[in-house]
Amino acid sequence: MGTIERLPVYLADLRHTYMGVLGSDAMPLNVGYLKAVMDRDLPDVASRLFVYPEKLLEALREAPPRVLMLSNYTWNEQLSLHAARVAKSIRPDTLVVMGGPNIHDEPSRQTRYVSDHPEIDIYVLGEGDFLARDIVQAFLEVDGSIDRLLDGDIASSVYVRPGAEAVRNDLSKRRRNLDDIPSPWLTGIMDEFFDGRLAPLWETNRGCPFTCTFCVQGTEYYNRVTYFDEDRLREEVEYMGRMIEERSPNMGVLRIADPNYGMYRRDPRLSGFIGEAQRKYGWPTFIDATTGKNRPDRIIESLERVSGALVLYQAVQSLDEDVLRKVKRQNIKLDAYEALQVHLRGRGLKSSSDLILGLPSETLEVHLKGLYRMIDAGVSKLNNFQAMMLRGVELERQDSRERYGLVTRHRVVPKSFGVYEGEPVFEDEEIVVANDSLSFDDYLIARQHHFVCAVFLNTGRLETMLRLVEAFGGARSELFRCLVEIVHGDAGEVRELLDAFVEETRSELFSSRDEMLQFYRTPQRLDKLTRGEIGDNLMYKYSSLAQLKSWPAVSALALTAAKRTLKRRGAEKEVDGFAAFWRDLENFETLRYASGTSLEELIDPISTQLSHDLTRWLDDGLPTQLEPYRLAKPAHTVFSLDAEKVQEIRNSVGVYGFTAAGATMIIKRVRTSSLQRTVTIDAPGVGERETRVA
Ligand code: SF4
Repeated sequence: MGTIERLPVYLADLRHTYMGVLGSDAMPLNVGYLKAVMDRDLPDVASRLFVYPEKLLEALREAPPRVLMLSNYTWNEQLSLHAARVAKSIRPDTLVVMGGPNIHDEPSRQTRYVSDHPEIDIYVLGEGDFLARDIVQAFLEVDGSIDRLLDGDIASSVYVRPGAEAVRNDLSKRRRNLDDIPSPWLTGIMDEFFDGRLAPLWETNRGCPFTCTFCVQGTEYYNRVTYFDEDRLREEVEYMGRMIEERSPNMGVLRIADPNYGMYRRDPRLSGFIGEAQRKYGWPTFIDATTGKNRPDRIIESLERVSGALVLYQAVQSLDEDVLRKVKRQNIKLDAYEALQVHLRGRGLKSSSDLILGLPSETLEVHLKGLYRMIDAGVSKLNNFQAMMLRGVELERQDSRERYGLVTRHRVVPKSFGVYEGEPVFEDEEIVVANDSLSFDDYLIARQHHFVCAVFLNTGRLETMLRLVEAFGGARSELFRCLVEIVHGDAGEVRELLDAFVEETRSELFSSRDEMLQFYRTPQRLDKLTRGEIGDNLMYKYSSLAQLKSWPAVSALALTAAKRTLKRRGAEKEVDGFAAFWRDLENFETLRYASGTSLEELIDPISTQLSHDLTRWLDDGLPTQLEPYRLAKPAHTVFSLDAEKVQEIRNSVGVYGFTAAGATMIIKRVRTSSLQRTVTIDAPGVGERETRVA
């Protein structure tokens, strides 16, 4: 290619950093694959990978590439477009290629996208591992002329021919043999990302056999599942473990990209490979994976081989057969969820689950029924999402919008905003806030239930009360329903918190991206956005405030709801000395967690008189016979944090402040156990105890 030696190609999978937190901490495996193929097949190319936008922008100015390839997801589209514009402004003959799932499904909207974004020369459709190589190869063959390249035929891509209309070439078939792609781990390509901030992302297979209409993996293109070779995978995990030990010892996380981990025959064996790395390197301590929807037997086996590091993460989405049919998810067996929950609870293991609000045909009643069913199944954490209009999925198509009467709004993607060389860059997401079966008022009511879920259930702080209700024959959802009623009827601090949450839930929504931009672009609002005062994940924000600043009021409501539910179940009559015990429990449940409106209140010890040894009662599994836990006389009891916990909280408050935004960061950054006070009971035979979330 004439005078150009080793064509410089930059491959970027960018993400924002917001208040010190990365929008995504997954290593850039996607562009790693592109580089692995190019390194092997194109000796005339020198490619580099980027994840941090500042580094890419600096490199674009100091050593502009000839080709820039950018990923496109909801969380980085605008950032990638910004980088594309910068690259073109510095060197107009840079070939800019974009790829990724965040593009509409309909061909006419795809061509419009490319026409509307002249900073993009080519948009690649589908898996890009080999297409990226082919484009760079073709670019070399036309001596780096963008016009000549675009004049030709580029497979599986959308682009504008010089002086002509945009063209779209159909998606190429997916390759069957994934091992044609060299491993980005074993070739050392990913080494630079073991930097203490990013977590390894492991992919063992691609595609999904299910067909959910709200998910890109549910499209026909991704329907066939392809697999990486097992020996290669074993070596990859071993390699990651070694690199973590050498370069990134504080990183405990392994992320798994598969949409159905644990469901396939070989998955328990793959978990065995992870188990080997755990024994050898002490990593991973936490595995983030979406577990499969069927085959609970295999999933259980996969969980058991990784020493509790993998929390069962079941993306349930809806429990209503009709809704599941509408979103083409009917081949997922609901019984499998419940079978898994029963198994996990029996072993004291935790689980996490998702529900989506706003799916076609789901009414408020049906949604809440699903929510209560999940609570009764014993899920430890229930994430409640809103239906997102992801591009490229059936639900987002114009005809689906009309068929189900979808009403949507735009909002800032949490943590996905930044100011780059003076220019603010916002990512937005489009969510369903109403449809034919769900009004906007219903949407707000559902979000209030989600709030109660986030504050009381997901923090684990309701667990003692839930178990007590169960001990008296009640369902977990019975307490939850009672709690929702009480929160609604409250006239105090918790109601204020709920009202503020609802108000922000309304005000974070905009009818279009442009309207959203107009709102946030004023200097004051930009400033607030930068400081995290607006535009954050509202559920995290209000749940953090409830835990840190309003805990006494929040705890009081939970105990009132529990008492009322237990009364209905006859506990007061059955249990001798219930009233005195309950007074102690109220104090204990409130004071065992550090909270306050100032740093001092948060870290200072606090004392009370207790007549029961409640730490032992908790350790013994909440027996209903209280006599053995009664103290001879009321004892002075101190709830305090040790020096290490105090220091951790002090540091965090020092960095983030104790504002609403600061509270969210403190909850994220401080270990859960550091907010739990140690209980010291001044009574013979009773000493200092760590309290724990049951
Ligand atoms: S099961 Fe999960 S990954 Fe597969 S199509 Fe449905 S939502 Fe997508």
